[in-house]
Amino acid sequence: MKYISTRGEDPPISFSAAVVEGLARDGGLLLPETIPDVRDSLDTWRHLSYAELAVKVMHPFTDFSEERLKDLVERSVASFRHPEVTPLRPCGDMWILELFHGPTLAFKDVALQFLGNVFESILEEQDATMNIVGATSGDTGSAAICGVQGKKRLRIFMLHPDGRTSLLQRKQMTTVQDEHVHNLAVSGTFDDCQGMVKTLFNDLAFRDQVSLGAVNSINWARVMAQIVYYAYASLQITSKTGASRVRFSVPTGNFGDIFAGWIARRMGFPIGRLILATNTNDILTRFFTSGEYRMAEVVPTISPSMDIQIASNFERYLYYRLNECGTSVRTCMHDVAAGHSLKLPLLSDGHVDDEIEAISASEQDTLESMRKVYQEQGYLLDPHTAVGVHAAKECNKRDQHEPIVCLATAHPAKFPEAVAMALGASVEARHPVLDAISEQPERYDPMVIDADVLKAYVLDRAREGMA
Ligand SMILES: *Cc1c(COP(=O)(O)O)cnc(C)c1O
Repeated sequence: MKYISTRGEDPPISFSAAVVEGLARDGGLLLPETIPDVRDSLDTWRHLSYAELAVKVMHPFTDFSEERLKDLVERSVASFRHPEVTPLRPCGDMWILELFHGPTLAFKDVALQFLGNVFESILEEQDATMNIVGATSGDTGSAAICGVQGKKRLRIFMLHPDGRTSLLQRKQMTTVQDEHVHNLAVSGTFDDCQGMVKTLFNDLAFRDQVSLGAVNSINWARVMAQIVYYAYASLQITSKTGASRVRFSVPTGNFGDIFAGWIARRMGFPIGRLILATNTNDILTRFFTSGEYRMAEVVPTISPSMDIQIASNFERYLYYRLNECGTSVRTCMHDVAAGHSLKLPLLSDGHVDDEIEAISASEQDTLESMRKVYQEQGYLLDPHTAVGVHAAKECNKRDQHEPIVCLATAHPAKFPEAVAMALGASVEARHPVLDAISEQPERYDPMVIDADVLKAYVLDRAREGMA
């Protein structure tokens, strides 16, 4: 499989090159040239374990042998605390797909444990090293750090906005004692962090000089690893219930997770509609209900990992909506970057997209959904998952003929403040992994909002590594 840029100006590259590059050189995102059709294989895949299915689903996207991929998958799922990796559990009139059994208790571990192993495997083959630079508002940072920890050919520089992540989120990153891990507390916002990372990636000379690598969800390998749990859950539920298709409700920020579901659907897994659930930061819900993509201010919410206005993976979706025309994508993305809104024509039935239904949840809706599910099912939701459950309930009110699977994207113990807001102090959300880090020493450096200072910092450490 070859990979092409959404902006159409780069020559096709291999899977390994696409993973190492992260971002296309023309500024676009990388996508596989074609989407494999798996419909003829579904019946033989129904009884596979998560790891076995992962190999089947991902193999056509890669340039790896099945044995090599199997080894990478097995090592990645070994860090999960549940034998089924991503177990399903019934919850009232829906299903919950628990994606938080990885080392940092967020669904991002599913992709980042795998990505760390893929990076290491490619770098060993090429006898090379890589410097990863990323920005985080919370969950991505710890999952990315954990994914590359102990991997000698990788060094990671993770920027977080100083004082703007939760204490727990910061400690999950800064208590990692590994000389290849550099946490940087930036005196600014998440957007400032993201802006500096972008500046480094756009400096192609610097990018080549330090072999810059990306762990944000723009990296195709992350999307690819997430296709697996849509495949797994859709096969499990259709086998269990006899339903012909299942719907998924997806708490959405950067559009990475739901885009993986969209690809799984295109591949032919038994998936009906995808429910796109947003919090008050609802640029995507507004888009999928009106056809207009227009940025607004980011408002802080109790589901902070979805507090996003620029959904970086949206460009991939746009590519397909614009009939795979790189020139149109380029024009649209330049317009958005210049602050203009984007308007796509509606389908003949008046919808923006028949495969995606978007619903947003207010802070009250989110808290209410945490309360209700706890009282009725005795099950504690994290605030991100609660946004998705709210959206799923709204959809079930209208139409119940296809089961809904809600993706549980984080363990509630990661968000004790939201749990206390919803349920009071009597319900405690704890997890031994988080209890263990609270007393450990932290390690991080301050960083100013200046891409040149950041470049010098990276270069210094990158040289040390090569010496
Ligand atoms: C990152 C994250 C999301 C949003 O996922 P996207 O791929 O950015 O849409 C939702 N919930 C949690 C807990 C997250 O960490």
